[in-house]
Amino acid sequence: MTKYIFVTGGVTSSLGKGIISASLAKLLQSRGFKVTIQKFDPYINIDPGTLNPYEHGECYVTDDGAETDLDLGHYERFLNTPTSQANNVTTGRIYQTVIKKERAGDYLGKTVQVIPHITDEIKRRVRLLEDQADYDLIITELGGTVGDIESLPYLEALRQIRQEFGKNNTLVIHLTLIPYLAAAGELKTKPTQHSVKELLMTGIQPDILVCRTEYQLTKEVRNKLALFCNVEKNSVIEALDAKTIYDVPMYMLKENLDEIVLKKLKLPKGNTPELSAWKEFLGRLKNPTAEVKIGLIGKYNELADAYKSIYESFIHAGSANECKVQVVPIHSEELEGPEILEKMKSLDGILVAPGFGERGIKGKIKAISYARKNDIPFFGICLGMQCAVVEIFKNVLKLPGCSSAEINPKAKNLVIDLMPDQLKVTEKGGTMRLGSYKCKLTKGSKAAKAYGKVDINERHRHRYEFNNKYLKRLEKTGMVATGINPETNLVEIVEIPEHPFFVGVQFHPELKSTVENPHPLFIAFVKAAMKYKAKNEKA
Ligand code: GLN
Repeated sequence: MTKYIFVTGGVTSSLGKGIISASLAKLLQSRGFKVTIQKFDPYINIDPGTLNPYEHGECYVTDDGAETDLDLGHYERFLNTPTSQANNVTTGRIYQTVIKKERAGDYLGKTVQVIPHITDEIKRRVRLLEDQADYDLIITELGGTVGDIESLPYLEALRQIRQEFGKNNTLVIHLTLIPYLAAAGELKTKPTQHSVKELLMTGIQPDILVCRTEYQLTKEVRNKLALFCNVEKNSVIEALDAKTIYDVPMYMLKENLDEIVLKKLKLPKGNTPELSAWKEFLGRLKNPTAEVKIGLIGKYNELADAYKSIYESFIHAGSANECKVQVVPIHSEELEGPEILEKMKSLDGILVAPGFGERGIKGKIKAISYARKNDIPFFGICLGMQCAVVEIFKNVLKLPGCSSAEINPKAKNLVIDLMPDQLKVTEKGGTMRLGSYKCKLTKGSKAAKAYGKVDINERHRHRYEFNNKYLKRLEKTGMVATGINPETNLVEIVEIPEHPFFVGVQFHPELKSTVENPHPLFIAFVKAAMKYKAKNEKA
């Protein structure tokens, strides 16, 4: 039988439930258990696809084309296994299902209520992953903080699941904060006591407390927490602030979180944790022999979470190259003025980020121009690739009035245009070209060399594409299409063969980079930046 672990959060948001869940899952996986993680988000949007990155950070896309919470990115990066739509559920989706059923007459004659109808739907979704594979354990992360009005139906569903499946089959981990009061020189347990009390009011007694803290928990603090929160002493787990999120599985291993979980769920210990690849990754990450600076040109830079997967991909690719990658966020709007050189001078590589809408486009195109002319390694992702196409048609071919339909739909030469199947689309939610598609690479291209093969699959999230009417003319610019979708002929990759590294991709490679499988294009890009820097230092 599958066993269930629930992770709730207390005291404040942003304590890292996603990382703790992913770290625990990693440890259980390393002991040979089949485990997956899902996230329940208490907001009313059907998915985060329509949310501004400033609100919610990056929207993570799965192979099956679900637009999901960025925590799913952590799950994939840690576990090295793909997630799907079933791994992310929102209140909006739960209500949508229940309301659809009500209209269909499924509840005919009955009043539809939060209990039992909404809670039943939550419970059904908790178990949905069971159909996908024979999981030994499913970890469910409940978004939000205990005490939020919108979390209540989830906690009630959790209470019912515990009551129905019993203590040996379900476990509740409460992630909480132990603040340090500098004036008193003390770690404080009271907020946690309150938060556990709040949880108790919904009928849930946590089994394990994971305590985020800046300082080590003393024995007294651990004992106090155990006593007042009614958990066993060994179940108070310290989660010290870590330098990198990739340290957290090691911290949890040291605190025996995995063993305690298995014991409470009456499961055997499994193998000794097999974490050699993880440790090697950490070793390389912490002992770099080189360093490069990469400019991340975007427009949501105020919130690093907006480009989460890109930052993480650089960490993976940096470790693979034993190179510290310093990512310098640069606001594209700041590049619109004349001082571009100042911003670019110290960079060893330029990445132009994905994005939507007209704002900041000018700066992106200027940065691309600069990278192209000065042989600086360039990597364009989605909108970044589209801008690279516009730039080269405009500045090399001098094609008049060339643009992307997203920026100027009336332009004379739309080298980037709306995909034909997008013409009839009026609704915004879930209507982009989403998820995994095939791509065939040109033998000998930079991309093919990086991947080491010519048939690949990558994830997408866009409405616009390279306009194939301009394919012949593209070659006159010195840029070539080196990755094509074999079914639709859609251009997926462009490169400039004469340039040391100039690659634009219509897809999102950052969504598939994991600790154990760093993305080949990021690895190649970092390598190119290292080469560029070495050459510059010599000159
Ligand atoms: N806005 C562009 C499009 O919809 C690019 C999207 C993206 O960068 N993810 O095609």
